[in-house]
Amino acid sequence: MIYKPYGKTGIEMSAVGFGGMQFDMTRSKEENAGLVQYAIDKGINYLDTAPGYCQDQSEDIFGLAIQQMTHKRDDFYISTKAMPEAFDTTEKAMGQVDKSLKRLKVDTIDFYHVWCVRRLDQYELAMKPGGQYEGLLKCKEQGKIKHIVISTHLRGPEVKTILEKNEFSGVLLGVNILNFLYRWQGVQAANEMGLGVVAMNPLAGGVVPKHADRLSFLAGVGETPTEAALRFCISCPQITITLNGFTTKEHIDTACRVADHAKPFTAEDIERIRRNVTQNMDRLCTGCGYCMGQCPKDIPIPGLMQYYNEKLLHGKTDAEMVEQLKFHQEWGLIADRKANAADCVQCGRCELACTQHLDIINRLDEITNWENKLKSS
Ligand code: SF4
Ligand code: SF4
Repeated sequence: MIYKPYGKTGIEMSAVGFGGMQFDMTRSKEENAGLVQYAIDKGINYLDTAPGYCQDQSEDIFGLAIQQMTHKRDDFYISTKAMPEAFDTTEKAMGQVDKSLKRLKVDTIDFYHVWCVRRLDQYELAMKPGGQYEGLLKCKEQGKIKHIVISTHLRGPEVKTILEKNEFSGVLLGVNILNFLYRWQGVQAANEMGLGVVAMNPLAGGVVPKHADRLSFLAGVGETPTEAALRFCISCPQITITLNGFTTKEHIDTACRVADHAKPFTAEDIERIRRNVTQNMDRLCTGCGYCMGQCPKDIPIPGLMQYYNEKLLHGKTDAEMVEQLKFHQEWGLIADRKANAADCVQCGRCELACTQHLDIINRLDEITNWENKLKSS
């Protein structure tokens, strides 16, 4: 296992973290708690959970595991989260921390996230006087939290703006081998500011293992595309921890094996991936972001085109795309949008800028139909 310093906290973290969002809920809590203990024994020392994960059972599973490892409490760090909208006052935020402490069966939560910031107004809500952040600071003074951190899906420049205010010790970001061109600015900014950087979603939401044949170019000699995607984040000097949503011991073994031999990607490797992503996935949006700043209507083109990828990769039906659109509008790729596909005036500037030469206007037309269906549903 590789260990890396988590920002300026003085903590050495395992490059692989246990993401508690994919427990097999057909198993008992005890069996899932055993999986957490197995991971700790393999050298994983960062445990990430949240209320709501796994039918709201994830914190309890970690609590059960922690109860059985009290003698090892110094061997691992626990992280959980709360959203600014749900806990928008100091009192509510403090109450939620107490609830998590109880469920996790600990006296202190090592890392507590202002969770899932998808728009700047959510960040502002968390930071308002008498709001969530103030409550978390009070919990920190009382020793209930050690480090206040943030999880965000904002774009690189906005992440940078937030982090520059020096309010957080670290950041949790969705970055992986397929989207790093688009997400890199946030990772780089956090690293340069001396913050811990935790990568979520290293397998691009399952796209890499599901489309291993198509993505074989990602892999180096003797590894699978999945292993390459894990190695990409694990070995990256700017990323402290790569979260893996473990379901089985085999998943843990694979991630640990990758971390044992994780050779960093060289500049040539990165260039090879950049080139291949462009050449081999020619109908897919790579999230490179070159179209950003081109649109007079501020349409979130990379987000919408990555959403459209799901049709190409998975052959989703219209009904499934409408369902996915609802998710992305609320939580995902386009949650912070200022405009919709329907606002396109077909000026063509994005198509001129697109590295993939995608027929963006036609795709936006199709997405507009799904937007209309969602609106009338
Ligand atoms: S064609 Fe549409 S999406 Fe593209 S830049 Fe023009 S208005 Fe924006
Ligand atoms: S639409 Fe084209 S330019 Fe924009 S992010 Fe996707 S691939 Fe890159």
